[in-house]
Amino acid sequence: MNLKDYITDVVDFPEKGIIFRDISPLMQDGDAYRFAVNEIVEFAKDLGVDKVVGPEARGFMVGCPVAVGLGCGFAMARKKGKLPRETVEVDYGLEYGEATLQLHSDAVKPGEKVLICDDLLATGGTTLATVELIEKLGGEVVGLAFLIELMDLKGRDKIEKYTIKTLMEY
Ligand code: AMP
Repeated sequence: MNLKDYITDVVDFPEKGIIFRDISPLMQDGDAYRFAVNEIVEFAKDLGVDKVVGPEARGFMVGCPVAVGLGCGFAMARKKGKLPRETVEVDYGLEYGEATLQLHSDAVKPGEKVLICDDLLATGGTTLATVELIEKLGGEVVGLAFLIELMDLKGRDKIEKYTIKTLMEY
């Protein structure tokens, strides 16, 4: 299956100069969605994953079905102010803008092996912030999986010491 058939390019969204890679058509197609999730589950099944963490919001859409496929739990990394209980937090930069990401303090237990899932690796800022949150809690990042990698932005350079799986490159 060619997953790129299910990605729609939106020029100048949300700002001029950005080509937004819209994954909605992929999520809207049951076969494509299942295929993509299964590819990540196959990649991760021998990594000993205890927990999947996904950053809001499209990281949930990728990470939740992967966690179910692996038979492990899922934890949400969310923008500041959304999580109701005690959190840890990290400030980070985006391809467009800045933000603070939080995890519940009990989301990852010390020593747990964690897989990070998101829709897209751009500058790597979101991913690096997610890694830092997990490591603050004593978790061990054993893998990172994305539907899409934007090669020009070299996000991979920020996370090169980790095991990375991407399903599509642009
Ligand atoms: P970054 O922190 O720069 O790696 O950005 C990653 C996050 O921003 C991803 O979770 C995407 O959801 C979103 N994002 C960044 N650039 C794009 C893009 N060109 N198209 C779609 N989503 C993007």
